[in-house]
Amino acid sequence: MKIHLKQIPAQGLHLDGDEDCPIHDIEAEGIRCAGKLHYNIDTGIAGGALWAKGSLSQPVELSCVSCLEKFVHEIEVPGFAVHIELHGPETVDLTPLIREDLLLNLPAHPRCDRDGHRVCKGKQPETVEENAKRTLDWSALDKLKLKS
Ligand SMILES: [Zn+2]
Repeated sequence: MKIHLKQIPAQGLHLDGDEDCPIHDIEAEGIRCAGKLHYNIDTGIAGGALWAKGSLSQPVELSCVSCLEKFVHEIEVPGFAVHIELHGPETVDLTPLIREDLLLNLPAHPRCDRDGHRVCKGKQPETVEENAKRTLDWSALDKLKLKS
């Protein structure tokens, strides 16, 4: 998303719209864009810098870690905020920053039932695993206590 600095009025600019999915290049990793990026941001120039804040959402198709079925997940970035020092160029491209925030908000272990809209058909090893891990952590702590 390129912003032309000359088009930003003194009181700032509100941008609300859709743009092509900026994370097409990670499709090899089992993540597929399932629609356009939606942005709703305010931007302005202050003190030689461009600021922008607002929210982003990007639907993507992911594979469930439990049942391996594909499902659509909406990556939400409710607190997108950037501050970019301006060094002369007339346009600033927000795409790399938007991309970074989307990737940061991707679920590490996507499950198709995470939003409660469907029931996962896979076994649910995650909870069991988590409990086991917790027990291990505690026993390690107990050992430490015994030593000291
Ligand atoms: Zn599932």
